[in-house]
Amino acid sequence: MPTIQEILQLQRTYFFSGETKSVDFRIQQLEKLRNAINKYETDILGALKKDLNKSEFEAYSSEIGMLLKEISFTLKHLKKWTKPIRVKTAVTHFGSKSYIQSEPYGVCLIIAPWNYPFQLQISPLVGAIAAGNCAILKPSELTPTVSKVISKLIGEIYEERYVAVVEGGVEVSQVLLEQDFDKIFFTGSVNVGKIVMEAASKKLIPVTLELGGKSPAIVDESANLELAAKRIVWGKFTNAGQTCIAPDYLYIHQRVRVELIMKIKKYIDEFYGANPLENPEITHIVNMNHFQRLSRYLEDGRIITGGKKDEGSLSIEPTLIDQVGWSDPVMQEEIFGPILPVMEYDSIDQVIHDVRKYPKPLALYLFSESVEQQRHVMDSLTFGGGCINDTLVHVASPYLPFGGVGESGTGSYHGKASFDAFSHQKSIVKQTNRFDINFRYPSHKYGLKIMKKVLK
Ligand code: NAD
Repeated sequence: MPTIQEILQLQRTYFFSGETKSVDFRIQQLEKLRNAINKYETDILGALKKDLNKSEFEAYSSEIGMLLKEISFTLKHLKKWTKPIRVKTAVTHFGSKSYIQSEPYGVCLIIAPWNYPFQLQISPLVGAIAAGNCAILKPSELTPTVSKVISKLIGEIYEERYVAVVEGGVEVSQVLLEQDFDKIFFTGSVNVGKIVMEAASKKLIPVTLELGGKSPAIVDESANLELAAKRIVWGKFTNAGQTCIAPDYLYIHQRVRVELIMKIKKYIDEFYGANPLENPEITHIVNMNHFQRLSRYLEDGRIITGGKKDEGSLSIEPTLIDQVGWSDPVMQEEIFGPILPVMEYDSIDQVIHDVRKYPKPLALYLFSESVEQQRHVMDSLTFGGGCINDTLVHVASPYLPFGGVGESGTGSYHGKASFDAFSHQKSIVKQTNRFDINFRYPSHKYGLKIMKKVLK
């Protein structure tokens, strides 16, 4: 087994050979990856079931299907993305040509979390390969079966000098963060994001940080309550609420509060059954620590629906609580579980005022039929991305860059944005030798006069 330092050295040497930069090579590697994902489908689904009890439907759509779509989109557009982009030449640069050339950073580190442990590890890799890089992957230790499958799958299709998997926990991550990578792509919590950025800053390594936080869902008095309820239940309780962009809490206009809550209960019942803990398809909480953390939130406020839990299977029912405020623990941290606190409001400006007091959210969802209200909220609040009248779906479009802002993240990916996240944009001026403009040189008689005219 080579050490981390040895793998990095192998990758650096291989990167400098230039092989990974050929567009045909990149296409072949992406095709290999797609074939391997198809081949390993049963293993991936089995591992997700074992580590998180993910249902086949959820696992396929959010982990495998999304990836296959990302790969086919990338394959379709890659040749175009890799072409140099000609840009205009300024008058000051008369006679020359200018272009922007996307080039791979080199050797990249991709660290993944446990909540979508396959997709969030491989999706950035698609961008890294598309852009022509080598990469070391570090899957989450909290989903060990998925980590093993990733290691086996990648080991089967790629040599270590190109893409390698280094399994392990925090100590391994720390060793990786001490190395001279050319790019670090991290998905995980805000706290660890800060550690990653600090380590990267010591070597000025460019980073993409895909972090988390508290993402609000707001339902105003004009909303289509039936659809709002259905889409909020889906967005919140998918993967037992362990989704970075799940609605973390709900603000409901006081006039529609009762009706919306009734409908939310109806959809919880419809999707998960009258007794969700007996539903074999319900995703489990990842481990006892998180189970206990979430259990403590159940003591905040009043449970409107749900609230039962089973320690043996680490399951918690989809739960709604009210009578909570910003000072309660459940409103102080990212919940990351199937608990939805509900707060009511009577003026949207009060909501805007509250949300602005906290770090910029990763996502925001507004349910409203009023175009004016939609514009007001979209223009007033800063957040990574989100939806009007839906939840989560913005993450699944390859045409929309996905990422946070401020505490919820730095940089974005998906589709072309993934290619860009792993590319340096090199600006080149190709100067003419047919003539030379002399006034820029120090000895020119009218140099200053011309400069003053040209540079304004
Ligand atoms: P985490 O930050 O605890 O762990 C993520 C990775 O970092 C793991 O591989 C882990 O081994 C490593 N790590 C943990 N502690 C470390 C340390 N001290 N030094 C170096 N590396 C360390 O996150 P998690 O619990 O796996 O995932 C949940 C979090 O991730 C949530 O906050 C969620 O919102 C966020 N998330 C964000 C996105 C996104 O796309 N923005 C997606 C999924 C999850």
